[in-house]
Amino acid sequence: MTARGSVIGYGATMKDGDPIVGGCLCGSVRFEGRVPSLFCAHCHCQWCRRAHGAAFVTWVGFRDAAFRITKGTDLVRWYASSNESERGFCTTCGTTMFYRSKVAAGEIHVTLASVDGEVDRAPKAHLFWADHVSWFTVGDDLPKVDRDHPALQKFQVIPNRPTS
Ligand SMILES: [Zn+2]
Ligand SMILES: [Zn+2]
Repeated sequence: MTARGSVIGYGATMKDGDPIVGGCLCGSVRFEGRVPSLFCAHCHCQWCRRAHGAAFVTWVGFRDAAFRITKGTDLVRWYASSNESERGFCTTCGTTMFYRSKVAAGEIHVTLASVDGEVDRAPKAHLFWADHVSWFTVGDDLPKVDRDHPALQKFQVIPNRPTS
């Protein structure tokens, strides 16, 4: 079992099977994941930055079997951002919420900012730190890791950045 609720007051009361719910800006798309999540981390890669129009994106991962879109499945469009990966967004309001990839089979990654409340763990790292923007200062002491980190090596088949 991974360490959960290790940060006081952050999801400390969640137990296995508890729902984590959320959705898009317009409310057309809603989702539900089940505790425990797989990970939570900030991603600074150029793919995420471009797709979300943001300095970085905070993701929480779920096993496919522990996640479902509960409303508006037909409104979710999956954009193939690379040969390996897809990013799901609401076609009504444009909110980007989901990521899935051949290199992370059996998982779905969900934007933490789309979750209504708390999840069962705090963000634990800054991923693909080499691509971070210069105009935002990170003030925490979380580990900063790059493509050569063992946990990220499976993503090396994906180009480092979009071609455009
Ligand atoms: Zn929407
Ligand atoms: Zn990313």
